[in-house]
Amino acid sequence: MANKHNKRHPVCPDHGPGLLIERYDAYACIECDRWLESECDDQACAFCAMRPAKPSDISKVPPP
Ligand SMILES: [Zn+2]
Ligand SMILES: [Zn+2]
Repeated sequence: MANKHNKRHPVCPDHGPGLLIERYDAYACIECDRWLESECDDQACAFCAMRPAKPSDISKVPPP
């Protein structure tokens, strides 16, 4: 099965629509400081492999 980096729009139950973090192609809730999506099924997925544990960690990760 292909990975799920396709059209979707996860929503935080408390804060509404997630913010797309383009660098990781993943939606996050900044207020909750958590990703709204689990990593996809593709073990080789570059987006998910590089994704920090929390959205707030993004700024600590040096750019590639
Ligand atoms: Zn939230
Ligand atoms: Zn992925």
